[in-house]
Amino acid sequence: MIFMAIKTFNLNTADLNFKNEVVAEEGGEHLKKCFQCSSCTLTCPVADVGLDLNPRNIIRQVLIGMRKEVLESKAIWQCVGCFECTDRCPQNVRFTEIIEVLRRIAVRESKNKDKNKRIRLSKEGKLKHSFDKRFTESVWLWGRTWEPEMIGRYFMYGRGFPFGALVGFKYISMIVGMIVKFKIEFFPPWNSKARKEVRAIFKKAKRIEQEIRV
Ligand code: SF4
Ligand code: SF4
Repeated sequence: MIFMAIKTFNLNTADLNFKNEVVAEEGGEHLKKCFQCSSCTLTCPVADVGLDLNPRNIIRQVLIGMRKEVLESKAIWQCVGCFECTDRCPQNVRFTEIIEVLRRIAVRESKNKDKNKRIRLSKEGKLKHSFDKRFTESVWLWGRTWEPEMIGRYFMYGRGFPFGALVGFKYISMIVGMIVKFKIEFFPPWNSKARKEVRAIFKKAKRIEQEIRV
């Protein structure tokens, strides 16, 4: 016998502006075109292995205003960005971009000064956001990632100091093994031309972001 947990949602608590908030963001423009055909979910490799992520369901939840439920879920952090759902969608909804929009809003709202409106990121969200941050910082610093520095800082700060550092020690032998086999570099990459070019891209992206927000 299969038991299914049925969750109920009180429509009186719905945030009816949530869908407009997503549509207003870069990448969320096509949200309302979704006609719930499920092609995205059927093709999603993450949904296929039984994790929480269900693209069609997330879109439905956004459309009916389940803002807190969606933004605090771990599902929005499980997408691996393979674009299968986007390729298969007959309505060009572009779910892979919508998930990025949801992540952006979740991170932004986790810093909301108003305690009543603040979003509590799931554990998966905190870890993924922290990893993305270390990745971006590493690219800014070196012109591309330098794994020992990036992973070291991820464990040190992303997972909470000092416990993160202790968790990181578990992987020391693996990291040394990879350095010995030349899979990752011991010394930082030093290519000032690449670094200059990458920083120019960062600055341009920041400028465009500010222009969009005006
Ligand atoms: S494939 Fe497109 S239209 Fe169909 S449910 Fe997914 S997002 Fe909606
Ligand atoms: S991009 Fe994300 S949601 Fe879409 S199919 Fe891939 S893992 Fe699933």
